[in-house]
Amino acid sequence: MLVRRRVLSTGRNWKPSTLAVHADNDPTSFTHDWDVSPPIGVSTTFERKANSGPDVYSRESCPTRGRCEAVLSALCGGQARLFSSGLSATHAALSALSSDEGKKRRVLISGGYHGTHAVVDNLKSLYEVAPLPEDPSRVAPGDVVWLETPKNPTCELSDVAAYVATGEDVVVDATLAPPPLQNCLDLGARLVVHSSTKSLSGHSDGLSGVVVSSDQRLDQKLKRHRGAVGSVPGSLETWLLLRSLRTLDLRIRRQSTTAVEVARWLGQHPRVSAVHFAAGSDLAKKQMNEAGLVGGTFAIELESENLATSLPTNLALFKDATSLGGCESLAEWRRRYDDEISPRLVRLSVGLEDPKDLIDDLAQALSQ
Ligand SMILES: *Cc1c(COP(=O)(O)O)cnc(C)c1O
Repeated sequence: MLVRRRVLSTGRNWKPSTLAVHADNDPTSFTHDWDVSPPIGVSTTFERKANSGPDVYSRESCPTRGRCEAVLSALCGGQARLFSSGLSATHAALSALSSDEGKKRRVLISGGYHGTHAVVDNLKSLYEVAPLPEDPSRVAPGDVVWLETPKNPTCELSDVAAYVATGEDVVVDATLAPPPLQNCLDLGARLVVHSSTKSLSGHSDGLSGVVVSSDQRLDQKLKRHRGAVGSVPGSLETWLLLRSLRTLDLRIRRQSTTAVEVARWLGQHPRVSAVHFAAGSDLAKKQMNEAGLVGGTFAIELESENLATSLPTNLALFKDATSLGGCESLAEWRRRYDDEISPRLVRLSVGLEDPKDLIDDLAQALSQ
């Protein structure tokens, strides 16, 4: 028998770790009332009955996605919508912000994830593109400001509030530092985008993306866009993400503090010429968290290109693979994917292994 779940009085003061476990105990979700863990809903269609819920067809909505979005909404402080990938979420965000009058807007973007630039390229009929000015006072009326903070792969931060102060639309790709590290809607961003393939999922096993909006009109545009093109994640990916969100707080805090320890060690190594990591910076403390934690991803520059290309292959615990935010540490020579990046740069994504073991692994690989 399927019954309506008990309504949990929403804990207004719950902290992120509690919300991650309980925010989907929502009266609109249907499940066996005795299930503690949510079932994987695979049905694409839902019977119309007197007591049936809001779900009709799964391109529009379905229970597992609804639960996952409820948790993401609670964690991100806005209305979250799930997409089939980070890039389809990016595409949806830009589509939702495009002009209603068919006039081209201008998107200001510099550096960051290379795939985002490919999406912008695909939206030439809606947007002109210009570099993001470092001085926010040079943002012009009508511009869309695209920030990625921390920025992939060099971990620089952008001052979100300074761009919000221009009064123009600010979108933040917050993939490298999900909640509880920062909440860019609170800082005034109109939309926040995540590749939930990365830290939100955290286990390198499901492709998906999220857009969180600050107002209902934008959310309706996102939903319409997603319904029109069908860019929804599959049932298994959605369920895996929901399952992963339960441990988000623990994972992110641990990965962030391990990264600080590993980066500090690398900063003293004679073959490492630079560490690009914003942990502990004034801006991190101002717009992220009081400890200045910024996530588990950062980059190092090595003494030579040769060392940068060989290091990922000589590591044992860090896998030589792209992506980030998973419980397995990864290292990659970023130039392989992005020719704007220094050939001496290696991006590291710190996982959930013991910090001492990761440092030992780096020590042996750097001695080769
Ligand atoms: C990986 C990534 C994306 C793209 O996400 P997919 O899920 O791979 O489509 C977007 N932005 C950033 C910062 C990323 O790291």
